[in-house]
Amino acid sequence: MPAARHVWLPVTVRVAWEMVCAGVKPRPRVIAAAREHVLLSLLPEVGPSELDLVVRALARDFLARVREDRYESSQLAHLDEVQRSALEGVDAGRIVAALSPVGEALWRMHYCDGERVGQVAARSGVPLSQLHTAQAGVREIARTVIAERCEGVEAWTDARVDVALEWLANRAVPGCPGPVGLLSEAGGVHADQCPRCSRAVRLVRAGVLAPSDLFPPDPGPDLQAAKVSLLAIDLHPDAGLHRGTLARALDGLAVPVAGGSWLADPADLPAIHEAILPRARIGAPDREQLRVAVVTGRGSWKAGASLGPAALEALSAVRGQAWGELGPLPALPSPLPPPPSVRSFWMVALALVAVTVVVGKITIKPSSATGLTPLDAHFVSIDGGWDVRFDVDDLTAVEVVSYGPAGLALVPSPGDVGKAAWATGEGDFALRVPGAAVALIGDADGDLDIAALVEGLATRPDPLAALEATLAVSNDAVQFARTPIESGDPPQRLVDGE
Ligand SMILES: [Zn+2]
Repeated sequence: MPAARHVWLPVTVRVAWEMVCAGVKPRPRVIAAAREHVLLSLLPEVGPSELDLVVRALARDFLARVREDRYESSQLAHLDEVQRSALEGVDAGRIVAALSPVGEALWRMHYCDGERVGQVAARSGVPLSQLHTAQAGVREIARTVIAERCEGVEAWTDARVDVALEWLANRAVPGCPGPVGLLSEAGGVHADQCPRCSRAVRLVRAGVLAPSDLFPPDPGPDLQAAKVSLLAIDLHPDAGLHRGTLARALDGLAVPVAGGSWLADPADLPAIHEAILPRARIGAPDREQLRVAVVTGRGSWKAGASLGPAALEALSAVRGQAWGELGPLPALPSPLPPPPSVRSFWMVALALVAVTVVVGKITIKPSSATGLTPLDAHFVSIDGGWDVRFDVDDLTAVEVVSYGPAGLALVPSPGDVGKAAWATGEGDFALRVPGAAVALIGDADGDLDIAALVEGLATRPDPLAALEATLAVSNDAVQFARTPIESGDPPQRLVDGE
């Protein structure tokens, strides 16, 4: 890794440039995080002539991590040693000088800034076909200039020429001034030729970077000491169904990695275990659909992302694990047996409803709001009276009223023991009552003064009906039963007829 102080300016300038090109507001905090990622990731073998190209790729890695949760290795077009040394001697200025205006736009926007040709067409308004024609011209000029330094260039594919052009377009012109010299007159002359210094001047003028941003801090960051331990969690692709719930469980504990992985601080292991445990119990996901690994490498946490190469090392390590290998994560239980199916649950529920209805009907059958056994009376007409048989709640007092020649009268029970005097020995009661009509009055509360009622109603034209009407509005504890009323044989006539 190059010393951070030596690459501070080119890295700062390029990451700021990439933020602007990507439409990211280049806040100092974001630029600092991107720079940290690049400085942590730069490999020692990166030479000064390819530094800007490599930083461009790493700055884009940073954006992919922060914006899209994508953690992938930079894909850099490969230049072999022979090609690289051949290109070292090529004067890129000679290629630029020979370009048409459209060719120059391609050089700047496509080869240098890395925009796709289609994007260049959209941004510049130059038709795509015209850009493709111009690109063929750029490659031809490049072949001619490179051929002076390198044999066999005529045989290079377009793709290889494009790699060479990208390399040349991103190479700083030797002799870049430092931050102080850059803003001098001589620095301005250099910047006209040097893509790196040209960007620096433009970014400072636009206020994206302050001149002070170009000075490395003293002492520079100690990136060798920037070690971080990372816990990587990987979810089996077959358990994609559970990715959303696991992501919610790990929210705030781990940063997501596109494709169903997470990166976390091993210090949060207990909380992570606690978050996963209830899901493992129900197999969502099953412990066999997880794998976990811990790796220590160069890296840091910033901007809600894991920076530096440690993240890729941790992801590579966890993807080399067997499924169910949970590393330092405490053991997870096997899922509980699956719950009964919803169908059988509903069958049980329906059965319970049916039982409830039947029990309810049985309970409700007495029909009385008080829950009493109803007064169940049967009247059989005999000469001059009625044989009465009845059943009623044991605690309900029963009064018998007869309607005969003497009018309405209370029938006293023998011995004044109430209905017990009429007990049949079979659980019900029976008695013979003289008169044209008979009524039974059950009084569960025992607080009705039936004798007074009978006396009060005795002179009514139809005293039994009046009694029934009076009792109907008295209270729920009172029940009433009477002998059938013969149609066309009203009680008055019974009276008259007697
Ligand atoms: Zn320069």
